[in-house]
Amino acid sequence: MTYILVLGGTTEASALARALAEARIPATLSYMGRVDHPKAQPIPVRIGGFGGVPGLVAYLRDHQITHIVDATHPFAAQMSTNAVMASRESGVPLLALTRPTWEPGEGDTWQSVPDMDAAVAALAGPPRRVMLAIGRMHLAEFAAQPQHHYVLRLVDTPTKAPPLPDHTVIIDRGPFSAEADRLLMQSHAIDLIVSKNAGGTGSVSKLQAARDLGLPVLMINRPVLPPRHEVQTTAGVIGWITT
Ligand code: NAP
Repeated sequence: MTYILVLGGTTEASALARALAEARIPATLSYMGRVDHPKAQPIPVRIGGFGGVPGLVAYLRDHQITHIVDATHPFAAQMSTNAVMASRESGVPLLALTRPTWEPGEGDTWQSVPDMDAAVAALAGPPRRVMLAIGRMHLAEFAAQPQHHYVLRLVDTPTKAPPLPDHTVIIDRGPFSAEADRLLMQSHAIDLIVSKNAGGTGSVSKLQAARDLGLPVLMINRPVLPPRHEVQTTAGVIGWITT
């Protein structure tokens, strides 16, 4: 009997959940539970951390999981590393569903940095108007560069104000359009965009808008993960499960 655990929290994980439901492959979708109102899903959902590698190994055993699909966000390094470790320890095979990285094209002005600390350091200098499109987790780190006006785009209203002395919060959930992002950048007189190299289509609009407006992008590269088997399509996952 096949039973899939999908580690989710992304558009790709939701698409995979739909494909698994259509193919009648039994599966559970797992969320960390950070977003207030996750989308309704066509397969059972579980919410919350597993309790590190031992917790995940116990979950795999208790729920007789036969395959793990890591469809988390490319920056969810802890979860992805835990999945590799738990797969090794339990013998349950693991596949990652990933997205290609974004690459700079004609008209792009990108400065790439290896991680969040380097992004904060790169913001040293005179005050600017910065669109900080990195989610809500690492906002506090940018308090080390308090001279800038930050425009934050978040999925949920923060329960406490971000510790940035000069900021504007915009609540919105993608997918976004390049035109709307262009207007947003113009109306807030943005002169720099900080982005994680998430890949995918859901939030690429800010990069298209930056290109159209000739604005520079500070691009944070993906964290390095342990080696694992990866595919980039839902069909690739279904093929892996069914062959
Ligand atoms: P993380 O730092 O790698 O994960 C921290 C801990 O959260 C994990 O060790 C695990 O707790 C728990 N966790 C994470 N994803 C989980 C899942 N799908 N199911 C159950 N537990 C999970 O990850 P993160 O960067 O905080 O991201 C958390 C979730 O948000 C991920 O599912 C990711 O796909 C989604 N997300 C992240 C980003 C981003 O930029 N990082 C953007 C969009 C969506 P235990 O150790 O207790 O098991």
